[in-house]
Amino acid sequence: MKNIFIKAVSVAMIACLGFGIASCGKKEQGLTINEGKLVMATNAFFPPYEYYDGDTIVGIDAEIAGEVASRLNLELEIQDVEFDSIIAGVQSGKYDIGCAGMTVTEDRLLSVNFTTPYATGIQSIIVAEGSEISDIDTLIDGDYVIGVQQGTTGDIYMTDEVGDDRIDRYNKGADAILALQNGNIDAVVIDNQPAQAFVAANDGLVILDTPYAVEDYAMAVSKDNEALLSEINRVLAEMEADGTIDAIIEKYIPSEG
Ligand code: GLN
Repeated sequence: MKNIFIKAVSVAMIACLGFGIASCGKKEQGLTINEGKLVMATNAFFPPYEYYDGDTIVGIDAEIAGEVASRLNLELEIQDVEFDSIIAGVQSGKYDIGCAGMTVTEDRLLSVNFTTPYATGIQSIIVAEGSEISDIDTLIDGDYVIGVQQGTTGDIYMTDEVGDDRIDRYNKGADAILALQNGNIDAVVIDNQPAQAFVAANDGLVILDTPYAVEDYAMAVSKDNEALLSEINRVLAEMEADGTIDAIIEKYIPSEG
C-alpha cells in the first residue's frame, strides 16, 4: 500500500514538473472544471463546424472535441451560447474549452490560450445576386451597410475598415443572412464554410470571389489550465498524425480535408 502511494506521489510530481509548477494546484482538482467532463462552449449556428441535427449539436468542432474528450477519458458536454460570450466564459472558468470555428487572434491571446490550430477559415463576402458590390474595395469604399456576427473576426475587421455606423451586428450568422435577403443590409462578411452553407440554403445570394483573410481555427483554453492545454495538444497531434482530423473535416467538407 505504502509503496503504491509513494509511486503515485512521484508520478504526480513528475507530471507537475512536466506541466509547470503553476498548473499543479489545478491538477490536484482534476484536469477539467467538472471531474470526468469536458465542457465545450460553442455557438451552434455555424455550419459545418457546429449546427443542430434535430436536438443534437453536430459538425466538425463537435466531432473533433468529442474525439479529444474520449481520448482523455472525459465525457463531452456542449453548451450552445452566444459567440461573443465564449472567451469570457473560458477565461472565468465557466467552460473548459471554447470550440466554435474560433480564429486565433493576438487580441484573444491576451485573454485565453489557444491549442494547436486544427482547421483553416477564410473571411468571405456574401451579397444579393446582381449586387453592384464586386469586391472588398467596392464594399469598403461605397456607403454600404455590412452585416456581421457580433464579436467575430468579420465584425472586428469590418469595423476597423468602415467604422461602427456602417456595421449591423447579429447574434447569429443566419440572422445576418435573413437581413441581407430582406434588403436591410448590403453584404454579410462571414467565414467561408458557413457562407457556402447559407448561400446553398437560401435563394438569391452569392459569395464574391474575393476572400481577404486566411485564419487558423483553434480551441480556446483558460490561461489558468496549462495542463488541459498540453493534454489537448497532445491528443490533437495524435489525431493529426493518425488521420482522424482529416477524416472528420473530409466528412463535412468533402475534398477539402
Ligand atoms: N472565425 C470567426 C471568429 O473566430 C467566426 C467564428 C464564429 O462565428 N463561430 O471570429
